[in-house]
Amino acid sequence: MSTDLQNFVLLDSAQSFLAREVHHPFVDGRGVPVDSGETLTTVNPSTGEVLARIGAGGESDIDRAVVAARRAFHGQWSTWSPYERQALLTRIAHIMDDRFDELIQIEALDMGAPVTRLRNSKAALMKMLSFFSTQAGNISGETLMNGIPGDIATMTLKAPVGVIGGIIPWNGPLGGQFWIIGAVLASGCTTVLKPSEDASLSVLRTAEILHEAGVPAGVVNVVTGLGKDAGNALASHPDVDRIAFTGSTQTGRSIIKASTVNIKGLQLELGGKSADIVCSDADLDKAVPGAAMGVFANSGQICFAGTRVLVQRSIVDQFTERLLKYMDEIRVGHSLDDAATLGPIISQPQLDKVMAYTDIGREEGAELLRGGERLGGDLGSGYFMAPTVFGGVSNDMRIAREEIFGPVLSILPFDDVDEAIHIANDSDYGLGGAVWSQGLSTAMRVVRGVHTGTMWVNCYGYIDPMVGFGGTKLSGYGAKGNAAHMDNYLYTKCVYMEL
Ligand code: NAD
Repeated sequence: MSTDLQNFVLLDSAQSFLAREVHHPFVDGRGVPVDSGETLTTVNPSTGEVLARIGAGGESDIDRAVVAARRAFHGQWSTWSPYERQALLTRIAHIMDDRFDELIQIEALDMGAPVTRLRNSKAALMKMLSFFSTQAGNISGETLMNGIPGDIATMTLKAPVGVIGGIIPWNGPLGGQFWIIGAVLASGCTTVLKPSEDASLSVLRTAEILHEAGVPAGVVNVVTGLGKDAGNALASHPDVDRIAFTGSTQTGRSIIKASTVNIKGLQLELGGKSADIVCSDADLDKAVPGAAMGVFANSGQICFAGTRVLVQRSIVDQFTERLLKYMDEIRVGHSLDDAATLGPIISQPQLDKVMAYTDIGREEGAELLRGGERLGGDLGSGYFMAPTVFGGVSNDMRIAREEIFGPVLSILPFDDVDEAIHIANDSDYGLGGAVWSQGLSTAMRVVRGVHTGTMWVNCYGYIDPMVGFGGTKLSGYGAKGNAAHMDNYLYTKCVYMEL
């Protein structure tokens, strides 16, 4: 455990941004105080200290932002050609490249991901922006045959749907917001983003930077606030056309209900409890670190984390021994510590929730093999939990069924591949999953058999916007990535033209 921060220098730009007394919502190209004048505090999870104050937005603040977004949608922005929108996205990629260090410092302090992890996420962000810039020029309808008497031409056109409400979680807002912003700018939509109350700062700063980069006022707006206030107001606003939501399944249900007001389209990326299947013929040199970091990366705060590690019974002892040895290399530390591989958990309530599973697992009869405790010493004031492993877990235990969203790995033994597929599918969720096997037919059998939105073979966690990523069952619907992503931001118009 290390907290040696002596070499860490906070950039002036990050420092002066963080020094603001209150971070106001960004609406119509400028910071606008919330009507109530109330604020929420945001805490640095590495230290437990207050980091900043953000506006506690509510219904009227959301309404102001939606009005601005609607005006922008019908305004000058609607005349931008695909080339202009593409050029804007390319410009944004350059600017994000330049400002990345500032943004990751803000993100690290706000949500606790180590700067080491965030630095490595730059390539993924650049790929995402490159992907969406190509989508701007790739929107097309069809010319269709028809059986109508006379000289009638028929075709479909694609048009931007309008105002997109984007509701974002706390586990990676800096990169995650671009799934929405990229598609909004590529399609010609506009957006009101509602970041998590626990991690809003990088989203607010990005909106300012995008505006400086040439995104017209009103096209990207950000309103901070609690989910039950600002989030619910956005989901139920009658002039918001679609909601792109990433967050828990429970909140997803509320959003579905709220959306009925104007039958909004929804893109829902929800929770997960993914199965990571390690077969007896797996290359353990790869499978052990792959399965470990498939859970522990971002301190377990990843929706597709492979938290149920299914291991073939004949290699359970060997796998477990190697896993525990590998974990000796994991360094937990302050998010600004260059030596840290894992940072804290986002907040005290989330830490309490995750830590409670230590007792739940024990009471259910699982064997606590490593971790389970809050870290003390230099890390005692932050929300740090030791990476945790339970052995001898069965799939009916709560630790195998419920999304923990923390650094807790469960080992579930299985006898044969059919049983592994059965266990993997015995879950309410269907988000990620993996199989580790050197046999192609075994791997393919598992890929075909597991009911989930994304499967990795002999690797874990790659996401490429060109390929995509999605969920099924209680993990949500509406593709993220690949050309299908854009369909969430476009509608189809059927055209009949008498010549
Ligand atoms: P959350 O559902 O508590 O909050 C997500 C967002 O929804 C926040 O901005 C919150 O303020 C807002 N919100 C809360 N209540 C609301 C309401 N009633 N109406 C409208 N908005 C509301 O989730 P979280 O705790 O921030 O994030 C963790 C969850 O997100 C986990 O379940 C995780 O699996 C999921 N997640 C999923 C993906 C994915 O791609 N599938 C990615 C990241 C996180």
